[in-house]
Amino acid sequence: MFIKQNFINGQWIASEDVIAIKNPATKAIIGEVSNGGHTEAVLAIEAASKAFALWSKKTARYRSQLLYQWYQLIKENQDELARIITIEQGKPLKEALAEIEYANEYVLWYAEEAKRNYGNTIPASTTNKHIIVKKEPVGVVAAITPWNFPAAMITRKLAPALAAGCTVVVKPSEETPFTALKLIQLAEKANFPRGVINIVTGNAKQIGDAWLRDKRVRKLSFTGSTPVGKLLMKEAADSVKKLSLELGGHAPFIVTAQADIDRAVEGAIQSKFRNAGQACVASNRFYIHEDVIENFTARLVERTSRLTLGNGLKNNIDIGPLINENAIAKVMYHIEDAVAKGASILTGGKKISEEKGHYFQPTVVGNVTDDMVCMQDETFGPLAPITSFKTIEEVVNRANSSQYGLAAYVFTTSLDEATFFMNNLEYGVIGVNDGLPSAAQAPFGGYKESGLGREGGYFGIEEYLEQKYISVDSFTQ
Ligand code: ADP
Repeated sequence: MFIKQNFINGQWIASEDVIAIKNPATKAIIGEVSNGGHTEAVLAIEAASKAFALWSKKTARYRSQLLYQWYQLIKENQDELARIITIEQGKPLKEALAEIEYANEYVLWYAEEAKRNYGNTIPASTTNKHIIVKKEPVGVVAAITPWNFPAAMITRKLAPALAAGCTVVVKPSEETPFTALKLIQLAEKANFPRGVINIVTGNAKQIGDAWLRDKRVRKLSFTGSTPVGKLLMKEAADSVKKLSLELGGHAPFIVTAQADIDRAVEGAIQSKFRNAGQACVASNRFYIHEDVIENFTARLVERTSRLTLGNGLKNNIDIGPLINENAIAKVMYHIEDAVAKGASILTGGKKISEEKGHYFQPTVVGNVTDDMVCMQDETFGPLAPITSFKTIEEVVNRANSSQYGLAAYVFTTSLDEATFFMNNLEYGVIGVNDGLPSAAQAPFGGYKESGLGREGGYFGIEEYLEQKYISVDSFTQ
């Protein structure tokens, strides 16, 4: 089930040096992967660079067919892939399966989009001239991905890159390499030519440095933390690489006096506790109108206290473990800081010490104020801090006063209110009465320090294309 080798230039390459991967639900070692570094990273670029000359010239239809074969193979293997996700990442099996289906939507979308890489012709200012705009693949793409969505973060980058005609070198997170390795094995079975897709696991800094310093890599697509994203952005400057960065979030969740409270509570549960809150679009701070805060809070507490926490491989589990002890420490710090400043724990609030894994209870905290750390920084865990507001103007200002701008949620039955929020929230993704807004056909990405570029839909393929403008004057005098 678990593949440990790197895949470079169409070969699975074993390495003497390995790193052990643990299951966050048990802390048991589940397998080992290659501890690749500079050497493997450079070999991967060489392979991708050579393959680019051939792959970029293939027909769009051919690229589409291979992506479609990859889609079919992922579908046929979705149960195994979902088990791998749960074992290495911790999310409940039903969520892991939903992630695979979501991840595969990108492969299908870009299998189709590959054929629609249209250019333009533009009316010129003189009669003899023709203005033509052609789209061409940028070149070798480096994709660096996080552990929270081990499948979707891979396909969201690779599918549009491959559709555009780019070749790729991938480094998955050191916490969750097995899902990525399995996906790449399926891509090999789908007959992508040698060198078009390469994967290297191991030392993040060595691999990242090699890829960022090499001029042959023309694009970096990164999803991860804001500090690492900023670091990579600086390193990419030397060779002026194209960048897509999907970084941290700090999503506000707003419930107005006119909201349908049942739907708001359901949206809160989905957006807060999916993947135990370990999502950059997870709602992170709850602003509830003072007229409905009592009702909303009581219902959210009741629903949250009924969520079952446990090993995601078991039946009927709603929330799995957090990824590691650092994740637990961050949630505890946010809770302790809030309580020290006057907040009260309404449900949860504790690490489950009797379990072997990194389990933390889903938690709701009330009496929260804007000076608390949980209202200023991403928790990336199962903590819902609640505060009240009086007017929509006030709450939109509070929601926007963040360096982040990825996702925001609004619950209301008033079109006027919804329109106000749509127009005034400074966020890249807004869910109106929707706790799960992500979709393969939509542009996903953030304002401000939440990132650069968009993933998904016809917008996503543009990130992997250069535009070539050709001005043609008459061929005769
Ligand atoms: P998180 O682990 O919180 O998701 P990180 O930003 O630390 O966020 O990690 C996201 C991805 O970036 C992972 O694949 C990780 O290995 C990688 N990474 C971390 N530091 C570096 C670095 N200096 N150079 C290249 N990649 C890095």
